[in-house]
Amino acid sequence: MQLSPQRLLGFAFASADLLLEITAEGRIGFAIGASEALSGSAETALVGRAWRDFIDPRDRPMVEALLGGLNEGGRGGPVVVTLAGSAGASERGASFTAFRMPGNEGAISCAFSRAAAKVMHGLHDKSSFETATAALIETAKATGQELEMALVELGGLGALRKLLGPEASKDLDDRLAGALRAQSHGGGAAANLGSDRFALVRPKGDSVDALVQRLIQLVAIDPKHGVKPDARTMSLMGDASPGQILRALRYSLDNFIKDGMDGKPSTTLNEAVSRSVQRTLVEVGALGEAVNEKRFRLVYQPVVNLKANAALHHHEVLVRFGDNASPFPMIRMAEELDLIEALDIAVVEQTIAKLASDPQLKLAANISGRTITSPAFVQATKTMLAGTPEACGRLLFEITESAAIDDLALADRHLKALRSEGCMICLDDFGAGAASLAYLQQLTLDIVKIDGRYIRELQHGGRESNFIRQLVTMCSELGVKTLAEMVENANAEEAVRRAGVDFAQGWFYGAPADTPEQPTGAAVDTLAHVKPAARRMGSVEGWG
Ligand code: C2E
Ligand code: MG
Ligand code: MG
Repeated sequence: MQLSPQRLLGFAFASADLLLEITAEGRIGFAIGASEALSGSAETALVGRAWRDFIDPRDRPMVEALLGGLNEGGRGGPVVVTLAGSAGASERGASFTAFRMPGNEGAISCAFSRAAAKVMHGLHDKSSFETATAALIETAKATGQELEMALVELGGLGALRKLLGPEASKDLDDRLAGALRAQSHGGGAAANLGSDRFALVRPKGDSVDALVQRLIQLVAIDPKHGVKPDARTMSLMGDASPGQILRALRYSLDNFIKDGMDGKPSTTLNEAVSRSVQRTLVEVGALGEAVNEKRFRLVYQPVVNLKANAALHHHEVLVRFGDNASPFPMIRMAEELDLIEALDIAVVEQTIAKLASDPQLKLAANISGRTITSPAFVQATKTMLAGTPEACGRLLFEITESAAIDDLALADRHLKALRSEGCMICLDDFGAGAASLAYLQQLTLDIVKIDGRYIRELQHGGRESNFIRQLVTMCSELGVKTLAEMVENANAEEAVRRAGVDFAQGWFYGAPADTPEQPTGAAVDTLAHVKPAARRMGSVEGWG
């Protein structure tokens, strides 16, 4: 059989829409195929141009690294790139493979085929990398592809950046991101995990030493700068469930971020799964003890009434385990392990005791969306209130959205029962989860607390102010008050006040403290304006 040029081209086009040859000088020497449809330029218009003009600037460092890393006979890709001159909705993507044929004067043969454009043009952060990697593992399970994760440590990179200054450091970081992406699956599976730590997912095969050498060479780090590269790979094959895989990835990356190679990264996914289970068991033990033995303390953060000169309205009660760190990871774990109800009951018990100790106080306790559907929780709260009637009318519950409420009708019956005891109900984290609107529609609420992320954005104008204004209007039509959290400065206060929000909370008025403090920041009119007679039970106005 004779291999005619037509036949060779036939083979090439079986998997590609466009073939390009890039000369040793970096120009397009040859182009054939569906160029117009793929890139918007005719083949003839491409020839003679620099390859860089063909690729979107955001993807150039990656393509540069991919081409620069090819030895004779070496193949790179496929990686997905965005083509130059396309932007926004009309962005054109192509999957691209490169091959450096021996004896071809350093020219590189490239094949492009149409692909959905990528939204990602840089490195992932830890959390998006976890999700992306978990998705790649699921796809690989279905296709039988063998993937591995490489953890890369470039010791001394931080010192080198200081030496280089900001501009040269940015170039270095761009080259590094390009080189990591070029080695990663599809060009989109590499992450920045801190100043000198990185991770990427790639097809199994090439040795990890070769990977490291290629990175150092591509990023052009001078050996005299003493950057010490080290890398380990973890096979991503295994039969763990998606949830176990995600936890194992999280465990492995946390471990690597904390201890680097000293943490002895797992070499297989299965090993990472069992190590993450071990860690969870240890933490569960510690959390279980903390809850059972009530080894936690409460801190108090003021909430002010914007419609009453920013005077104190009540305090939110926040739990602390040991140090002052955020309890959020523990809360999430407690929710996953069914320990949250016991914790919430214990917090409510201490909150009621605190109310009994100081008749001036009004307190809001956080209750997980999981706990609120528990009849035992409502019963326990009723019993505690019956034993401490002086706390009635001064207790508010914030229903958090860290766990989804699975039965809204049941939750609402419970909320009504708590309201009939004189408690007030606030929906926390409004806008943080997908279900917020359904909650607002179907739950009997006194206050909606707008998630802090909107408030922090609000100060810069933008669309959040519209969102908040609309929300305030909607809530007032429903007879529900609004509360803005994470108000950190006077600008934020001004913005939420203008949007018509009723209550505010945040560092501007005071951080969580061991004792309930008066608010700072604004002109404080304490409780003087609150007529005791006006303190009816069961209405927010009655609260002051
Ligand atoms: P959350 O209920 O939305 O609490 C507000 C969080 O924002 C608190 O974090 C608080 O310290 C923080 N914060 C307050 N003001 C500012 C500010 O101006 N700027 C910024 N950046 N942050 C501010 P914390 O204490 O770490 O609590 C995190 C989450 O943990 C809470 O969010 C709540 O969902 C949960 N949580 C805390 N205590 C309890 C509890 O006793 N039971 C339950 N179920 N969940 C709790
Ligand atoms: Mg809260
Ligand atoms: Mg919140």
